[in-house]
Formats: sequence, structure tokens, C-alpha cells
Amino acid sequence: MNVNIIELQEVMKSYGAKLAVDRLSLEVRRGEIFAFLGPNGAGKTTTIKLIAGLLQADHGQLRISGQDVSRDGLAVRSRMAYVPDQPFVYEKLTGREFLEFVREMYRVPAEVARERIAVFARQLDMGSYLDQLCESYSHGMKQKVVLAAALLHDPELLVIDEPMVGLDPRTVRVVKNLFVERARSGRTVFMSTHTLAIAEAVADRIGIIHQGRLVTVGTFAELQAMQMQSSLEEIFLQLTAEPRDEQI
Ligand code: ATP
Repeated sequence: MNVNIIELQEVMKSYGAKLAVDRLSLEVRRGEIFAFLGPNGAGKTTTIKLIAGLLQADHGQLRISGQDVSRDGLAVRSRMAYVPDQPFVYEKLTGREFLEFVREMYRVPAEVARERIAVFARQLDMGSYLDQLCESYSHGMKQKVVLAAALLHDPELLVIDEPMVGLDPRTVRVVKNLFVERARSGRTVFMSTHTLAIAEAVADRIGIIHQGRLVTVGTFAELQAMQMQSSLEEIFLQLTAEPRDEQI
């Protein structure tokens, strides 16, 4: 089996004249938690949407588990889950109805889904509101339901944009543990985040993108050695300094 679950080769994506992702080559290994960092506007969400098949690259190749994202989109999407930074739920459904809708879409057997939902409800403390309409949920409550929905079909690959924003500290801990558990069982988590402490705590490897280009990739220890810096904040600031910052 291919050790890399995500393979990007020379991927480029522009919006009109704006080059958002510039010749990005990246490999993410099966069973790792990969943190994708970068300043605002660096190209993280664009890359994530390309991986999720929601955007088409202008150039280059994207493969998930060896399958071409643009050619085998359906097969690729059935093995992965994508969670955007803005949680989307149907306001007029209850959380449980929303999860049922997702279950049917991914053809998860009812009994399996029931058990998984019970576990998520307990882990993410959703029991008290799963039967209320989603329109009454706070941002964090929606995020938990969306995360449970993404994991309902037990995807090989979870691609998640800013997973921790808006979650309370206890839930952050639970989600971190959930990611670690998934990685231990051979599944992969690819997440973008601005929270460097989270990347430092859970990521097996870290990639930093700046102005559409991958400026570094490696374990935290490798990044520390390469940049001769001990903190991820210093490493991040050093690698993402605008040319004008270097002259200051
Ligand atoms: P942030 O951390 O702020 O969420 P990001 O790293 O996710 O940023 P992207 O959203 O991928 O960055 O944006 C990369 C670049 O592409 C930015 O310059 C942004 O202005 C531009 N961009 C993104 N989406 C569009 C769009 N729909 N139309 C035009 N330009 C876009």
C-alpha cells in the first residue's frame, strides 16, 4: 500500500490574476497528523479545497490514496471527509436528523451509525442538544455536530480547516485526543490551524505555506534544527516574514 495518502505535485491555483497556490508539492503519510500552517491569505483553505475536490487545480496533480482527485472524484470523496472552517448544518433539522441524513448519504449501516453517534455524543458532550433544531446551536455546538458527521463513515482521511476555533478548552482536548486515536489506528488527519500550540502538541509533521508556496515541511524537531529556533512561533515568524520585514 502507498505510504502517502495525499500527494500533491506542482499544484497551482489562481483566482483571476491572484496566484493563491504556487507549484505546491507535498506528501502526507498514512496515519499521521499533519498541521498546515501559514499566515492569512497564504493559500491554506485553497489547498484544502483542492484536496477535497471542491476546486480544480489549474496545473499539477493531486492524488488521494493513489487516485486522481479530478478524475476519480467520487471514489476519493467516499474515503475522506472535509470539514470547512465555517460549520454547515441544516438549520431546520435536529443534530440527530442531520447525522441521519449524512449516514444515508454515506450508506453507513444504521446500527453502526447508532453506536458511533452514541460515542460521539458522549465524547463531545452533545447529548443534551442533539434532538434540538440546529438553528438553536451555538458555533461550537454546530462544529461538534459537523465533526461527528464527518467521522460517521470513519474516513481514511480527515481534512479539516481550523478545527479548534470556537471550541471550549475541554472540547479542544477531546478533539485532540480523537485525532491522536485516529492516527494511531492508521487514519490520517490533515488540518490547517493558526493555533501553533496545537500543531506543536499533536502534529507528527508540520508544513508552512507562505504566499502560496510551501516554505518548509518536517517534524517539529526537524524544523527546530533547520531554523535553529526552539519555538514554533519563532520558526513560523522567520519563515513567513514579508521581504519588507527582513529589511527592518
Ligand atoms: P486565512 O488564514 O486568512 O484563512 P488562507 O491561507 O486560508 O487564509 P486562502 O483563503 O487560501 O488563504 O486565500 C489565498 C489567496 O487567495 C488570498 O490572497 C485570497 O485573497 C485569495 N482568494 C481566496 N479565495 C478567493 C476567491 N474566491 N476569489 C478571489 N481570491 C480568492
